[in-house]
Amino acid sequence: MSNSKRLRIAVQKSGRLSDDSIALLKAIGIKLNIRDRLLIAHSTNQPIDLLRVRDDDIPGLVMDGVVDLGFIGENELEEKMLERKAAGKPFEYEVLRRLDYGGCRLSIAVPNEMDYQGIQSLEGKKVATTYPYLLERYFKEQGINAKAVMLQGSVEVAPRAGVADAICDLVSTGATLEANGLVEKDVIFRSKAVLIKRADGELSDEKETLVNRLMPRVDGVLLAKE
Ligand code: ATP
Ligand code: ZN
Repeated sequence: MSNSKRLRIAVQKSGRLSDDSIALLKAIGIKLNIRDRLLIAHSTNQPIDLLRVRDDDIPGLVMDGVVDLGFIGENELEEKMLERKAAGKPFEYEVLRRLDYGGCRLSIAVPNEMDYQGIQSLEGKKVATTYPYLLERYFKEQGINAKAVMLQGSVEVAPRAGVADAICDLVSTGATLEANGLVEKDVIFRSKAVLIKRADGELSDEKETLVNRLMPRVDGVLLAKE
């Protein structure tokens, strides 16, 4: 549990969400002294510490109450929520704000040459993905009997490698799909970055006050960019 007096915020250490998340914190007046290799960064003007980790770890850190807030993509958040729910672990959180960056979609894509007539064409097939819980939920909703094959990386080469018949991966422009002879077919989840808060108990009064003071500034920054 986070018993520190300082508000703990988890951010992706290095990746697509890092720069925008840090920029937002700075824009709301939090001065940060980030040293590249360090896990923790302390604010020099607020009682706030940043925990810089892989994005995959952020939902669990919030849900386990190790940190108070976290910046995370909804795709990763929802996947981890489903995974933790299935494993009987705490999966509660509160969304404070939906943000204006990290936009992407989780889509099913199939090889160019596949005769795809809709999701039913995947009946009995294998689909490679890093998001097996989101994908299997979609199959269930659609009444399709297909199997999600978990791959942490190189999802887009799975069909060519004979590991799966199709894929389900994050897309923003579609260039990676095209380069791998794949066509996007069904969008199963639309995602943006969100700022979340632990929901496993009350924050201390001091932390709650700080969060309540910061949120209008976040709104101000989001509004100014619209
Ligand atoms: P880490 O090393 O932290 O595990 P990662 O490789 O899992 O990093 P990134 O590629 O940096 O993660 O993506 C982080 C998040 O950015 C994604 O989960 C998603 O919410 C968002 N995102 C936005 N656009 C894209 C995209 N085109 N491809 C992948 N993720 C995207
Ligand atoms: Zn990751």
